Amino acid sequence: MCLICDRIEMIKNGTNPYFVKELQTGYVVIGDNQHFYGYTLFLYKDHKYTELFQMEMEERTLFLKEMSIVAEAVANAFHPEKMNYELLGMGDAHLHWHLYPRVDGDLEGHGFNNRGPVWWYPMEKMYSDECAVGGEQLEEMKKLLKTELDKLI
Ligand SMILES: [Zn+2]
Repeated sequence: MCLICDRIEMIKNGTNPYFVKELQTGYVVIGDNQHFYGYTLFLYKDHKYTELFQMEMEERTLFLKEMSIVAEAVANAFHPEKMNYELLGMGDAHLHWHLYPRVDGDLEGHGFNNRGPVWWYPMEKMYSDECAVGGEQLEEMKKLLKTELDKLI
């Protein structure tokens, strides 16, 4: 079973607490863990492709365009110094973008001289209960992001 498909099923059932907005090619959700404040994912609608280049050009272009709009909305909502964009898929082979807002020092001394990709921050800290988001904080983040998305789309 695919974790992304599970989360999309929850969106369709109205039981995914992280869901923000549906776009033409995918769903915008707030990340479960928020060490990198504003971490957002953009999930492609179907479990159909494992690579961008497998998509028809029109669909691919729209997916990329929407991803960049989501990134812009995340930046406007959470005010990072820089956005990071990642399409991985070795864990879950269902196209999904990780959109990470970054600020100086967010690796807290890890990485190479405190610089590097988010994955150089220790997993056990990144996925700890301390970094989990829920309740009022999650509602506030969803509202902020939805407002910015609605301005751009
Ligand atoms: Zn899937």
